[in-house]
Amino acid sequence: MSTMIVPGFTVLRGFLDAHVHLALVDATRLADGGIARVLDLGGWAPPAASETNAAAASRTLSAGAPDVVYAHQFLAAPGGYPGAQAWAPAGCVREVTSPADAAAAVDAQLAAGASVVKITLNSEAGPVLDTDVLRAIVGHAHERGLPVVAHAQGVGQALRAFLAGVDALAHTPFSERLVDDLVEAMATRMTWISTLDIHGWGEHGDDFVRASDNLRRFHAHGGRVLYGTDLGNGPLPVGLNRREIEALLAAGLSTDAVLRALTAEDLGDFPGVLAATSSSADARVTVVPGERPADPTAFADWLCTAQAISRTDLKDRG
Ligand SMILES: [Zn+2]
Repeated sequence: MSTMIVPGFTVLRGFLDAHVHLALVDATRLADGGIARVLDLGGWAPPAASETNAAAASRTLSAGAPDVVYAHQFLAAPGGYPGAQAWAPAGCVREVTSPADAAAAVDAQLAAGASVVKITLNSEAGPVLDTDVLRAIVGHAHERGLPVVAHAQGVGQALRAFLAGVDALAHTPFSERLVDDLVEAMATRMTWISTLDIHGWGEHGDDFVRASDNLRRFHAHGGRVLYGTDLGNGPLPVGLNRREIEALLAAGLSTDAVLRALTAEDLGDFPGVLAATSSSADARVTVVPGERPADPTAFADWLCTAQAISRTDLKDRG
């Protein structure tokens, strides 16, 4: 863990929430809540220069907002998730009709500035992409250098994503208990974005229990875990979510592993651009007052006092 010494503070690489929806949340409060960087997984793109909604533009790109890497549209089967969801912003879904249509769908996201491709495979909420279409999307995205993140929901969908070469799952699988051999195979090349707290927001239903069990084994096999909350969907705090951190600790992550999930220091190829954002000279760092306590309960208390600030502000504090 690379820690810089500033008297009175622990300074860490800027914390990343790897699953947010900026179209549904006021991002200006994220930095005060410790989040320096976000990965938007659908429904958002920077307002165009011609955008008349200047308020929206300043809201998402102002000083208090985090550095953003984004997917733009959800790529889905015709009629597929989340097209019919009440929360889905207009135009947020790009339906992919055939393998031949896959390249155009991916290129449209690239043209809008996307750094990752988001696909949905939610068999509980509608039709899902056929395997040949799925493979065509992943193949073309990889040719263009874009990692692919899947929302996999419904029995068998996480396996389909894995077999098609998807790089990351937007949620820890929760629809079923994945068998050990599959979890172990996934751990060799996939990234899972945690989002444990979306299941009940502290109420811990069956989905939470299944997801926690899958994540425990994925982490134990060395799988790469990123902290992510699905911010924008449901009653989640804007900033670090203490319940997500507690759920990660409960799933067997050490305090060091939780910090790695937040700082995303070990991203490998996924998504390289996230690593790039944190190494730029003006990137934010996350600072926490005092030193990290050893006790996990005190650790969660301590962590949730984090703030994301610019390197310039850091010099002023030092
Ligand atoms: Zn989401």
